[in-house]
Amino acid sequence: MEKLLALLKQFFGYPSFRPLQAEIIQHILSKQDALVLMPTGGGKSICYQLPAIYLPGITLVISPLIALMKDQVEGLVANGIPAASLNSLMTDAEIQQVKQLCVQGKIKLLYISPERVKAEADWFLPRLDVSLIAIDEAHCVSHWGHDFRPEYTQLAILKERFPAVPVVALTATADKVTRADIIKQLHLTDPRVFISSFDRPNITLNVRRGLNKREKVHAIVRFIRLHKEQSGIIYCMKRADTEKLVQELALFNIRAVAYHAGLSPTERITAQDDFINDRVEVVCATVAFGMGIDKSNIRWVIHFNMPGSIENYYQEIGRAGRDGAKSDTLLFYSISDLIVLRQFAEESGQQEVNLEKLNLMQRYCEADICRRRILLSYFGEEAEHDCGNCDVCQHPPIRFDGSILVQKALSAMIRTQQQIGIEMLIWILRGAARQELTERGYHHLKTYGAGRDLPYLHWKEYIYQMIQLGFIEVDYANANRLRMTPLGQRVLYGKAQAQLAQYRPPEREEKTAKAPQEAGKFRAQPIRPIASTSVDEQLYDALKQLRRQLAAKENRPAYHIFTDAALEEMVRLKPVTLEDFNLIHGVGQIKLDKYGRVFIALIRFVLHLPKMG
Ligand code: ADP
Ligand code: ZN
Repeated sequence: MEKLLALLKQFFGYPSFRPLQAEIIQHILSKQDALVLMPTGGGKSICYQLPAIYLPGITLVISPLIALMKDQVEGLVANGIPAASLNSLMTDAEIQQVKQLCVQGKIKLLYISPERVKAEADWFLPRLDVSLIAIDEAHCVSHWGHDFRPEYTQLAILKERFPAVPVVALTATADKVTRADIIKQLHLTDPRVFISSFDRPNITLNVRRGLNKREKVHAIVRFIRLHKEQSGIIYCMKRADTEKLVQELALFNIRAVAYHAGLSPTERITAQDDFINDRVEVVCATVAFGMGIDKSNIRWVIHFNMPGSIENYYQEIGRAGRDGAKSDTLLFYSISDLIVLRQFAEESGQQEVNLEKLNLMQRYCEADICRRRILLSYFGEEAEHDCGNCDVCQHPPIRFDGSILVQKALSAMIRTQQQIGIEMLIWILRGAARQELTERGYHHLKTYGAGRDLPYLHWKEYIYQMIQLGFIEVDYANANRLRMTPLGQRVLYGKAQAQLAQYRPPEREEKTAKAPQEAGKFRAQPIRPIASTSVDEQLYDALKQLRRQLAAKENRPAYHIFTDAALEEMVRLKPVTLEDFNLIHGVGQIKLDKYGRVFIALIRFVLHLPKMG
């Protein structure tokens, strides 16, 4: 164990293991098979990379995405670990060279695509001294998972060729069917299954509902201004929306790129590369984006549209904050998205399952209990406490008797013969002078203007609540017209009371909207908050700049030099000796030698200390 910890510090710069890592590694070293389920960012890689360093011989890592392979190999090499990959993008000469190094025993980790495994299973692989086989993204072997890859089904061949070598399969997909399928298809022998908590406490959870497209764009602009110089992804349901959003953000001087399956491979690679290397901070993407990248300093994720299931949602927000530093997420939820998603679900092969998944997603969006508890219980975990890091926890609902509001809304609906949707209802209540309204004669209704005293967004929130509480129903099949329910009728006639939760404006955003000069100064607080002095800010900016320069010089992504979390720790601890610098998470021997002095020099400079002797 001590030896393992020493290796962890020397090569990766970490002083301790995360939960389960040590158990998993010891299990692997006892030459037994394992299935590892950990959320994205949970630290799966260490589970096979460390044994790979420890064991004699070579470790094979099967990975489906070439971009990811490249990233991992570069990261390992930067930490002084001999690693290489074999994939279809390489020339014959490159392949020969890598093979030779492997046969000579000069490579500790070989990343290899599943196609390649099959091609090499008879000649090349048996010539190697294989001590461990790791199968990453193992859910790709299962039809049940969301990312089935036929090549993966042939990987059982590895067990045949190397019966004595332990196999560890790893995935972030947790459901039970997939789990059983992986074990069966890969022919794992009596594997131990390790399931780590799916909680990602550094990710904040926020949901806003009922905003239309224009309002969403404005909210996004404010959000991005609060996250200046931080990388983030905006997920959209439709390709066209990604491009439109890029244009709209440009009007606010926010540079973003679109990413979707309709672009050419070159365009996609360029967008991804620019994002990884911090040349562009915002990507507007369909779900296709993010799969293949391992960028650890994605600081925020926005869902422009509601996702179709909690699994998808969790996977997508999980791309933020892999380095463990605080990251923000924001999901926009609206009835119109719900309708589109319903249709998708109904037209899908697995109607019942998908409708149920959508239902649960909707319940998450509408919840007024701690959102993280809902997520964790979805993944079969029980949380004992509210998280304190979601919008519900931070602004617990304050209830009031909203019966009169419900009555006003219902009577306006009834007077239109229940022919209207949410927008029109609000216009009527607020006495708006809209052409669509007057054309239909709604300005003559008795309830026209009856809710003038409440702003538009308040009404919208309350009507969403009325739907959620079952006073009003949305007729999805019928242009989303609103219908009164029997329960609503009881409120209308004063036979039942309606408790609503008070509208609350999204505070932080509201503040900056009023004081834009403040926006630029904001930076996400690290997990353990530092006293925010201007020296800290200066130091953080300076460190980031140094990292950027080094990254450009070495032609590598900045987070490969140090993660955001590591920079934040430098700000907190202000190391001014090599010894102190070595205590920073992520500083291993190689990085200490390579970067220690320049970083210390910079820290000393910012702190006005004399140069190191
Ligand atoms: P996964 O493959 O599960 O998505 P990674 O293996 O990429 O996650 O790890 C996520 C992040 O956590 C990486 O930045 C990694 O360096 C970091 N990490 C992993 N193990 C530890 C540890 N024991 N201590 C500190 N950081 C760690
Ligand atoms: Zn919470």
